[in-house]
Amino acid sequence: MSHDVKHLSRSTQAIHAGQYADEATGAVAPPIFQTSTFAFTDCAQGAGRFAGTEDGFIYTRMGNPTIARLEEAVSTLECGYGGLATGSGMAALTTTLFAVLNQGDHLVGTSSVYGPSRVVIERDFSRFGIASTFVDTSNPEAVRAAIRPETKLVFIETPANPTIVLTDITAIVEIAHEHGVLVLVDNTFASPILQRPLELGADIVMHSMTKFINGHTDVVAGMIVPKTEALFKKIRSVHFYVGACMDPHQAWLALRGFKTLSLRVLAAQEGAQKLAQWLEYHEKVEWVRYPGLASHPQHELSQRQMDGPGSLISFEVKGGLEAGAKLLNSVKLMTLAVSLGGVESLIQHPPSMTHATMRPEDRIEAGISDGLVRLSVGCEDVEDLIADLQQAFDQV
Ligand SMILES: *Cc1c(COP(=O)(O)O)cnc(C)c1O
Repeated sequence: MSHDVKHLSRSTQAIHAGQYADEATGAVAPPIFQTSTFAFTDCAQGAGRFAGTEDGFIYTRMGNPTIARLEEAVSTLECGYGGLATGSGMAALTTTLFAVLNQGDHLVGTSSVYGPSRVVIERDFSRFGIASTFVDTSNPEAVRAAIRPETKLVFIETPANPTIVLTDITAIVEIAHEHGVLVLVDNTFASPILQRPLELGADIVMHSMTKFINGHTDVVAGMIVPKTEALFKKIRSVHFYVGACMDPHQAWLALRGFKTLSLRVLAAQEGAQKLAQWLEYHEKVEWVRYPGLASHPQHELSQRQMDGPGSLISFEVKGGLEAGAKLLNSVKLMTLAVSLGGVESLIQHPPSMTHATMRPEDRIEAGISDGLVRLSVGCEDVEDLIADLQQAFDQV
């Protein structure tokens, strides 16, 4: 449908993938096909569409032209076979798990994955006979040790939330594939601008598009990008029926946000690098974790695996929980809110917010200390962000 963008740079692809003038009207911006169903010209056409022998749309839960553009756009940047858009990042995860796992199967996951991802696996998928083991996947040997004969999936998140610990995708893929196990990567934190797991051998990528891909803090959405046609068909057959679909208007907003993905990711990253360097020398800061700092234990891996360190920073305020709370309550320009990847800077306290549902011992195991603060650096002028944090530190 659109012109071939495969050979173009990521920033150009973000603007042009899935974007083409509307055939009927010439509209440059994509039309929003806000319809639940699509008319067939006759019974034979309807039958052909259901049988898959004829291209075309049937019903929006099973596909829609506005959503299809977004699926094409994200899948192009991720170098996948195709995309499957979902109503949220969690819907992308649960749809994928429904599709690739069966009763009696086992999965190995990153211990510090997004809190609700772990909850849905440990609390809900376990009720259907799916077992799981969460380990520190930054150590590939821990993954090897956790794999059992019934393991069918390794689920990694890198950089992981909120510890900013990295997992070596290539090393995990090698171990998993040796055992015939699929690798699913949650690429939300890096976005395809900074990291492309499918190129590193992973089988499926998922996103919470709520974060960087949409980037304007006004949409909740998700995406699944499988690497092969076989996996795409397998997951799509479940996606059709579980009802994790996206709304066309939501897709249109995400598609608009996607055009500036590269600009936003790179601008936020530039600010984050400066802010992290400033925090590292701040007298009231215990430690800073940011892959762009030489002090990050996996600084070298970040340079090898990613095209940049991104814009998420975690740090610990000296004085623990109380000092951290004082800092968070004192920021003015930054917003005290969960979520990340928007143009505005957001600051939050994972142990009492996003990761509060984890057992305290699991939090410690995952490296989420009581005073940990997570900062999602936005696209504001970094001098303004530094001034805001400084006046907040003055209150501590
Ligand atoms: C937010 C997030 C999710 C869940 O996405 P929703 O869009 O909120 O459902 C999953 N993984 C990561 C890494 C996230 O940050």
